[in-house]
Formats: sequence, C-alpha cells, structure tokens
Amino acid sequence: MTARRNSRVVLTREIEGAPSAEDFRVVDAPMPQPADGELLIRHIYLSLDPYQRGAIAGRHGPGAPLGEGDMPPGETVGQIVASQHPDFAPGDYVRSFGGWQEYSTAAGDTVFPVDGNRAPISTYLGALGMPGLTAYASIIELASAQQGQTVLVSAASGPVGTTLGQIAINRGASVIGIAGSAEKCSYVIDELGFSDCIDYKRDDYHERLQAAAGEGFDIYHDNVGGQMLADAIMVMRPYGTVVLCGLMSQYNDPALAKDLYIGLPIMKRLTMKGLVVYDFEDRRAALVDLVAPWIAAGSFRINEDRVNGIEYAGAHFARLMAGQNFGKALVVIGAE
Ligand code: NDP
Repeated sequence: MTARRNSRVVLTREIEGAPSAEDFRVVDAPMPQPADGELLIRHIYLSLDPYQRGAIAGRHGPGAPLGEGDMPPGETVGQIVASQHPDFAPGDYVRSFGGWQEYSTAAGDTVFPVDGNRAPISTYLGALGMPGLTAYASIIELASAQQGQTVLVSAASGPVGTTLGQIAINRGASVIGIAGSAEKCSYVIDELGFSDCIDYKRDDYHERLQAAAGEGFDIYHDNVGGQMLADAIMVMRPYGTVVLCGLMSQYNDPALAKDLYIGLPIMKRLTMKGLVVYDFEDRRAALVDLVAPWIAAGSFRINEDRVNGIEYAGAHFARLMAGQNFGKALVVIGAE
C-alpha cells in the first residue's frame, strides 16, 4: 500500500509587491504523526485572508519574512483522522491554524470545535470566524451602532464588510458600502439590504459619496486605509466614530505609508479607534450565538469565493491581494 502523502504549498521566493501564482508551488511533505495529546487533522477548507500578506512579509507578529520553501500560515477547518486527546474523536470537525497543506497535527487544547449542525462548517472561517469576529467587534463593541444611524464600510462585499453590514442593518442602522465593481455593489444592495453602495472606480465616486453622506456618516469602518480613509473622513459628521481596521490599499507596498493628515478629525471631533481582532476572542461565542441562527434561518447571506484544489491556493491568494475576490476567499482542499 502506498503511504499517504501530505501536499503543501510553499513560497518559491521572497515576495516583493503584489503576489502572483508563480510565487507558490506544491511540494510533498511527510505525513505528520500525532504525539500524545495531539490530533491528526485532514483539512477541508483553507482560509485566505489579507493578514497573510503581512505574515509573508514578516510584518504580522514577531515572525521574520518568509522565503523560498516556507509555508504561509492559514486557518483551516478540517476533520479529525486520529486523536490522542480525550476531548476529540475521529470524525469531529475543528478549526485550527493548519497552514497551506492537506494535513496537520495540533495539540488538542489549541483547536476549536466546529458545529456543523448550527451552520455550514466553512462559515467558521468567514462570518462565524475571524472576519466575522472583526465585524462584530467593530460594529457592536467599538462603534456600538444604533437604530437610525448611518454606517459607511469599505471593501463592502468581503467577509468583514458583509458581516458588519448585516449586523448593523439588524440593529436598525442604514448601511452604505464602498466597493470596486458594479457587481459587488449590486450584491450588497440587492442581496444584503444595504441602502446604497458606491463604486470607487467610477469617475463620479466623490460626488456620489458626498451625496450618500447627507449630513455626514455616524460610523465609518475602514478596511482600506490611504486615500479611501481620507475620503471617508471628509464625509463624517461631527463627533462620528471611525474604526481603523485594515490597510487593503497598502499591504502589497513594501514601504507602508505613515502619513495621515489629522486636521480634519480634530475639526470634526471624531473618535478614531484601532481594532485588533485578537482582543475580542472572548466574544466569539456571542458572535456565533448571534449570527448562526440567522444563517440557519436563511436571513443572513454568505458569499464565498471558492477555488477547488490546494494547487490553486497561490493563484487565489494573488487574486485576493489584487482585490479580485468576490466574497470570502476559500480553498477547498478535501471533501466534507
Ligand atoms: P476582503 O475580501 O474584503 O478583502 C479584499 C477586498 O479589499 C478586495 O476584494 C477589494 O474589494 C478591497 N480593496 C480595496 N482596495 C483595494 C486595493 N487597493 N487593493 C486590493 N484590494 C482592495 O477581506 P476581509 O473582509 O477578510 O478583510 C477586510 C479588511 O479587514 C482587510 O484590510 C483586512 O486586513 C482587515 N482585517 C483586519 C483585522 C484586524 O484585526 N484589524 C482582522 C481581519 C481583517 P473592492 O473591489 O471592493 O475594492
């Protein structure tokens, strides 16, 4: 009998600027063996997220830049094949940091159970996972959106934007998105109930943003940074709240821009709050309790941008970092 292999995606070189499919290749790795207290996990879904660009560049956490032969980090949902831990049995679904590969081992106390009876297991990487927790932390904990308020969110059609928008609408706020295509804008308006969405690639972007703002937005959730953040600050109402969450416009740039003109936030008396999702781990159960019943009832929409096969992970990541994804970027590695 042939021994099972573990395919893994590694970098072909240190990445400069925007990633491309050629920056990644698949290699054969040894099949991992679970030690005492550990699990062997077969990955089903790999989550692709913008933070991975920072991790590859050595800007996310304490790690050094990744180079040739290194595997990028990544969260996975998978199924336990073998368990050396009393709390888990073969067949259980778990979420863990398995990386860009087909199998991993993990200590039982570092993985999280995934309940497929409450929602599809892939959503534990999206609306019920780290992006959803980010949205929850922003709109409930930091900005505390209220009935009647207006909320502006950039990268509106991604997992953070769509989860945030749907939670805010449920709280009685009116949500306006900023997104990069007519298709993305139609989706958030027609399918999710956003009041409006502005395509920032159109020539009339600034006029439309100004018109949509009316007296000014109460809340802006910023996923993009740079000029888009500056544009949004222009259309905030006095005493509004800006949640600083992401820098989608700058992750591929080796020299992160450090300048921000803060005269306007002073004049407008804005409250600006930085968000780091890891601070809100204790709210994860509350997120699942809030959103999973909506998913089950069909009142909360999930949009996933899937690719089948671990060999396409690199190309799919390149699409994400070029803004070409439409929904939560996932790699389907194995069958459920
Ligand atoms: P998305 O799928 O929304 O991110 C990709 C989207 O960003 C693209 O589809 C694109 O949509 C948009 N985008 C805007 N400007 C650019 C640009 N210049 N280049 C490329 N893409 C661009 O991802 P998520 O929902 O997962 O994450 C949204 C943001 O939240 C990211 O910045 C991420 O890093 C951040 N984040 C922060 C966390 C924290 O703890 N602070 C935790 C989790 C996420 P469009 O076509 O509409 O422009």
